Amino acid sequence: MSQRKDIIIIGGGAAGFFAAINIAEQNPELSVAILERGKSGLQKVKISGGGRCNVTHAEFIPSELVQNYPRGEKELLGPFHTFMTGDTIAWFEERGVELKIEDDGRMFPVSNSSQTIVDCFLHEAKKHKVNVLYNHVVKSIQPEESSFTLETSQGNFICNKLLIATGSSPKVWRLLEQIGHHVISPVPSLFTFDIKDERIKDIPGVVAKDVTVKVLGTDLISEGPLLITHVGMSAPAILKLSAFGALTLAKLNYNFNIEVNFIKQDSALCLEALKDLKIQLAKKQVTGTSQFDLPKRLWKKLVLASQIDENTRWADLNKVQLNQLATQLTAANFKVTGKSTFKEEFVTAGGVDLKDINFKTFESKIIPNLYFAGEVINVDAVTGGFNFQNAWTGAYIVSQSIGKS
Ligand SMILES: Cc1cc2nc3c(=O)[nH]c(=O)nc-3n(C[C@H](O)[C@H](O)[C@H](O)COP(=O)(O)OP(=O)(O)OC[C@H]3O[C@@H](n4cnc5c(N)ncnc54)[C@H](O)[C@@H]3O)c2cc1C
Repeated sequence: MSQRKDIIIIGGGAAGFFAAINIAEQNPELSVAILERGKSGLQKVKISGGGRCNVTHAEFIPSELVQNYPRGEKELLGPFHTFMTGDTIAWFEERGVELKIEDDGRMFPVSNSSQTIVDCFLHEAKKHKVNVLYNHVVKSIQPEESSFTLETSQGNFICNKLLIATGSSPKVWRLLEQIGHHVISPVPSLFTFDIKDERIKDIPGVVAKDVTVKVLGTDLISEGPLLITHVGMSAPAILKLSAFGALTLAKLNYNFNIEVNFIKQDSALCLEALKDLKIQLAKKQVTGTSQFDLPKRLWKKLVLASQIDENTRWADLNKVQLNQLATQLTAANFKVTGKSTFKEEFVTAGGVDLKDINFKTFESKIIPNLYFAGEVINVDAVTGGFNFQNAWTGAYIVSQSIGKS
């Protein structure tokens, strides 16, 4: 015997809960169920943002907001005019969850705990009688004439409308391909670069505040803070490259060279500045007089890499050494030999082909009454709360479309 529901949502994650709550709230007559494979849902919300959940980003202009999406930039512009960051903030506030803005624009619950978001969703789902069924793994999806039959680990279900909110699940992408959808092969996005190099050895935690990084041999370039880690480099300057370059860097098998301009200055101008410093700081040791607002430990490493030894004074620098230092500061070459997980946030590039989706409703163009929201579609963003914003926006628009029907 199959269980019947008006609406079924596969996946009890960010997008699944957000859609279910909004559908049920808008149209209490509908029976709404979430089928979640885990013994609890919202696992990624729980661990997100280092346990604080970076819910969204304080960017309120749709055309600016979309620029944070390497995949989805064009398609999300319309949806963001319907539901974006300001709406997210209001949605949570109306349900008793206040968000705060950090200096870099990221927004978190005032409680600094992702549990606040989880609790809000569980409370709202209960209040609006969403039937959340855990330990239900969906194994097959069968579109019928005006309904869907789902086979799960705990029996079959039939529904009129189906929302796929399964995040980056290769098994579900395969099921979707079987029913005629196109899926762009997944590759990781948002990762840090593995680099073994004397210049960054033993100085983890050092931050260069504003750098430019180029991936040599490509047109990938980014700006922002750069963090030296135990295994290489991280922070926005690197993470942006990992997102915008997700496909290119996968093709390079994560082996490539980068050029870092640590001071965002032209090499010739830097050389002139160094020549002036040679006069001004003549009697001082070069390694001990950090310049260009660079952290002392990084400065020292770059000086040593320019064949200038520890005790050399500015006055003693020769032409070659000055040139080498200018190069280290403005065009330092590093070899990247792999990638590591960025623990605060990571996503998958790839998913249901955007050409298959009507972005006015997030409905499939191939199978009527089938909808998608969240990471299951080929949308992903740089770090900062934008990935959740994609989930909230898609889920909200689906809820409007389904809830009204
Ligand atoms: C460590 C980490 C931290 C992150 N931090 C942030 C952050 O701070 N800010 C931000 O914007 N983004 C963050 N992200 C990204 C963000 O979590 C995702 O973009 C977001 O969760 C996507 O939501 P979703 O609902 O599409 O998928 P998910 O949240 O992944 O939910 C999908 C759900 O579907 C279920 N499911 C899958 N297959 C089946 C099946 N066959 N049957 C039934 N259920 C199924 C899964 O169990 C899961 O519960 C982070 C990601 C990670 C990994």
